[in-house]
Formats: sequence, C-alpha cells, structure tokens
Amino acid sequence: MKKKQFKAESKKLLDMMINSIYTNKEIFLRELISNASDAIDKLYYQSLTDKKLSVKKEDLEIWIKPDKEARTLTISDNGIGMTEEELEENLGTIAKSGSELFKEGNPEEKDMSIIGQFGVGFYSSFMVSDKVVVESKSPNSDKSYIWTSTGADGYTMEEGTRKENGTTITLYLKKNTEENSYDEFLETYHLQELVHKYSDYIRYPIKMMVTEAKKGKDDKSEEVEVEKTLNSQIPIWKKPKKDVKDEEYNDFYTDQFYDYEKPIHIIRSEVEGRSSYQALLFIPSHAPFDYYSKDYEKGLKLYSKGVLIMDKCKDLLPDYFSFVKGIVDSEDIALNISRETLQEDYQIASIAKSLESKIKKELEVLMEKNREDYEKFYKDFGTQLKYGIYVSYGMKKDVLQDLLLFYSSKDMKYTSLKEYVSRMKEGQDTIYYACGETVDKIDLLPQTERVKEKGYEILYLTDYVDEFVFKCMMNYEEKKFQNVAEGNVDFDTEEEKEALKKANEEAKDLFDAMKKVLDNEVTSVSYTHRLKNHPVCLTSKGPLSVEMEKVLNTMPTGEKVKAETVMEINENHPIAKKLKDLQKKKDKKGIETYTKILYAQARLIEGLPLENPTEISNLICDALAK
Ligand code: ADP
Repeated sequence: MKKKQFKAESKKLLDMMINSIYTNKEIFLRELISNASDAIDKLYYQSLTDKKLSVKKEDLEIWIKPDKEARTLTISDNGIGMTEEELEENLGTIAKSGSELFKEGNPEEKDMSIIGQFGVGFYSSFMVSDKVVVESKSPNSDKSYIWTSTGADGYTMEEGTRKENGTTITLYLKKNTEENSYDEFLETYHLQELVHKYSDYIRYPIKMMVTEAKKGKDDKSEEVEVEKTLNSQIPIWKKPKKDVKDEEYNDFYTDQFYDYEKPIHIIRSEVEGRSSYQALLFIPSHAPFDYYSKDYEKGLKLYSKGVLIMDKCKDLLPDYFSFVKGIVDSEDIALNISRETLQEDYQIASIAKSLESKIKKELEVLMEKNREDYEKFYKDFGTQLKYGIYVSYGMKKDVLQDLLLFYSSKDMKYTSLKEYVSRMKEGQDTIYYACGETVDKIDLLPQTERVKEKGYEILYLTDYVDEFVFKCMMNYEEKKFQNVAEGNVDFDTEEEKEALKKANEEAKDLFDAMKKVLDNEVTSVSYTHRLKNHPVCLTSKGPLSVEMEKVLNTMPTGEKVKAETVMEINENHPIAKKLKDLQKKKDKKGIETYTKILYAQARLIEGLPLENPTEISNLICDALAK
C-alpha cells in the first residue's frame, strides 16, 4: 500500500505532538469526544432537511472501549463520518487555525500551552499513541475507508467494511515510560473521571461497558458487565448555579474557546420575558493573537433548547464588546430557522440589547470589586471600549464612559472618570488632561507643571485614540474636558490677567518679529503664566491639538493637517528678559537665533520633529561658543 505524506505544516505539528512534552496529555480524549459530538451534530442537522437520512435522536451516541490485552482505546460515534476525500483532507492537513501556529518563528521554542489555543484536535491522539487507525463512513459514500498512520512518516488509506454512518478511531497506546503511564487510559474508572471532567456537558450519551458487582443467587456477589452512560448531558449553563464550580466553568471555557488561560470573569445570566434566554459569558484575561486584526470574528455560540444553531452569532454582540466569549441558549428561537434570516430576527436583537447591559454592569462590578483583574483586562481591551465611543461619535458614551480608565497624575495610577470627578476641587468644572507618548514624558511637559501646582489632577492620555474619545464625548457628567496644552487654560487672577495683557501689548513688535522669523509656522508668539520653571511651550488654538495633528498625520490616507499653535514664553523666566534686551539693542540677528532655538525646543518637548536639525544644532553650538 502506498504511503502518503502529510502536508508540511501538519507534519511539523504532528512531530510536536509525538514528542510532546506537554504535560496535559489527557486532553486527547476531550478532543476526540468533541469531534465525535460535532460529527453527530452535523448528521442530525442535515437530517432535519434531508429526508433520505433517517436519524433517530435517541440512537445518537458515542462509545469508548478500552482493550487491555491489545492496549488499544477506541472512540466511536454514529455521526456524519467522512468520505475518502474528506479523510485525506481533514486528517492529512491540520485545521487552518493550527497553521497560524507556524507563521511566526519556530514553534518548538514556544510555550506548549499555546497548543490549546488552536484547533489541533485530532492530532493530539499522537500524544498518547504510536499508531492511530480511523475507519469512517459518510452518508455520501457507499463504502467506508480506513486511514492508518504511525506518525510523521505518513499515512495509508484502504477500503473498510463499516456499514453504518460514523467514525471509529482506534488508538494504539504508547509504551509506558518512567515519566508516563499510558495504561491509565485503559482503566475504566480513569476514563470515567476524564469524561466527567472535560466532557460532561456533551449532549449525546458517552457510553462505556463497566463491570459492576451484583448480588447473584445465594446472595453471592458476581461481577457483571453493564452499559453505563458517563456524562450527565446537561449543558453547564443549564445546571443549577450552586452545582457548578468555577473550575468547571474554566475548563469549559478553555476547551470551547481555545484559550490557554482561564477567563478573568464569568457571567451567568437567565432572563425570562419577551425573549427568554440563558447565557454563559466569559471575559478573557488577555486578547487573542488576532484580536486587533481583521481576521478576528466576534460572536457567541447560539443554542436553541440545547442544540447548536450557530457557532458565532455576531449580532449578539456590539463591536465594543467583541472580546466576550460564550453561549446563549434561547427557547424562543426556532430550530429550523435558516442562518440567513436569523440576522433579521428581532428576538436576536432583543437578546443582544439585554446582554449589552448585563455585560456593562458586570464589567462595572469587576472594576469596583476586583480592580487588579479589571486593569489587566483593560490593558488588552480598553482600546476597543474607547473605539466604541469614537466610532459612534459619542452616541455610546452612556454605555461605555464608566468603563474607561486613564492614567492620572494623582498617585500615578489608573483612575475612572467617576473617581476623578469625585476628587474634584470645589467649584472645579473641568477635567484636565494632557497627551503624549508615555506617562513619564507627559509628566515632564511644561504645561502640566502649573496645573499640578495649583492642585488639580491631570489625566495622562497615552493612547492615540484617547483625545478623540474626549472630543466625541464633549463632557462627562456636565464637566468639560480641557487639554492643559490648549490656549484657554488659565488660573490667573483678574490683576494677573491684566498685567499679562499689558506685557504682551508692550512686546508686540518683538513678537511680530519672532513670528516672521518662524515664517508664520505659529499663529502667534506671546507671554504666558502657564509655565512655572520652563522657558517655552507650544499651545494649540482652535479645534485641533498638537497631539491630534500627530495622530492624523500618521494615517495613510488624507491630507496632512496642521494644528494652529502659539509659541508661549514664560514671562517670569530669565529668557524673557534676555529677549527684551535684544529687542532694545535692535539685535536682529540675536532675535533670530533665540527664536529659532526656542521654537525647536518647544517642538522637541511636544514630540514634534524638527525640519532643520542641522541648522539648530549649529545655532546652539555658536551660542555655546560665545
Ligand atoms: P477541528 O476539530 O478543530 O476542525 P481536528 O483536527 O480535530 O480539527 O479535525 C479535523 C476535521 O476532521 C474536523 O473539522 C472534522 O471535519 C473531521 N473530523 C474529525 N473527527 C471526526 C469525526 N469523529 N467524525 C467526522 N469528522 C471528523
């Protein structure tokens, strides 16, 4: 018989499985049972529309048969099976998601725990076996076929004898080693434990023959073989809350949603009413590798009366909660509803609405009760929440605003807007913020110094979408947002304001000359009281801030934009006096040099590029040499 080779990527994965150092080898059973259950789902689903298939629901089952003498373990189902081509296609190539594993770098070096993140399913059987035989028959073929493989060297195909639809997988267990006993997978009690642990919720009976002691004649006990169903078949979300341990939810989550870490929060919800449903939702502790790419698909598994209707119903989740995983089970959704019309179903819309408010509430509770976990969650998904406000132009602010966190000058840690407002000074009607690349850089911005000195808290915005979010929100509980680097921040008294105005008027000629030196790069030059120790800063005027200019100009499309800026000079700094002297001496050259250097400094502090670094560098050297 001719041996066929695996596709390159499959071979790599197979090698990993065969030589696996992964300690959790027992998951192979869960994977095979879950494939069997999917196969039965498919057959049953097809039989709803295909009258040629006579399927009785009560006959659908999965069998586990250990054989101690042969050291084999057999898992069989009477599901949809596979044709010859499907056997080759499905077992000769790994699932597409699995191939992602090989995209970046060398998989061997990666933590084996990520295996669980991909649908490597069937191949996990090679963690415990040196030979695997799969016999399968599909309703679309008269014949059954046998696929046999002893691992990475390839596989063979031949005709089989199976008559009924379905699949039988026989595992020839590896020899025991010092570290690993594979014999345990032949022990009925251990198999029962594993089914209970990983596959209890599977909706079809998982059966096995077990020996039981039975009182026979003369009260003598004798051993008899009896058929036993190992799983309760009650979906975990239908079990009474008190009967389910967190650990079971976590196992269910990692198994169903291919995550290797347990969720950060579990939500169970039951609603009776116009649209009744049960939901079991999970908030992941970290973003999947493709979360912020277009490949990521949001959605919840949708069941009706315990039967899976749709694997990823995206209409159940708004984009800003696209990280939520889980299932929804509703009796009100017709089983035979076609997948296309489902989208229009008002039931779905009404469940989605109710889920949205539930998720919002639960996240708020998490933020309040378990701040550390919430911050971990927020680091990965906060941007998504902020996007929700941005792309809706602020329409969704009521749902999302209290879920946001920003870094704060107070204690240098995350704060919510609600917390900021609760700490506001009496009479304060403004939420102050400053933008920059990092918290440290913002903290050193000249514009923040005076505001902090006056005792106001400042939010430090480091995410590029942050300031756009505030612009979209306009305000929070009637408190307006104010960038400390914008023109209209001032804490001066009336007299101070008057004095500043006068000083500016007196320096009008100087400032006009300076503006000219800068070739009108700035809207104006003026004195300020905004700065305490620093000599100079750039502030923005008009709707666009310097930070927004930076963000918008990195976008691939669109014209370049420019914020209207004012170069402000600290009136109380020695440099102000120096400028006045130069003006008095009518030192045009001097004014030009100082203006250029000051402007370059202001731009650098803002994180803006210099257009003429060589010139500036030479100017500074000349000044130093004097
Ligand atoms: P996944 O289940 O993540 O797709 P697997 O490697 O476990 O990846 O399985 C690959 C494919 O082989 C499945 O998608 C399914 O089409 C098919 N398959 C596996 N086991 C069975 C089975 N018991 N009956 C029918 N088809 C199966």
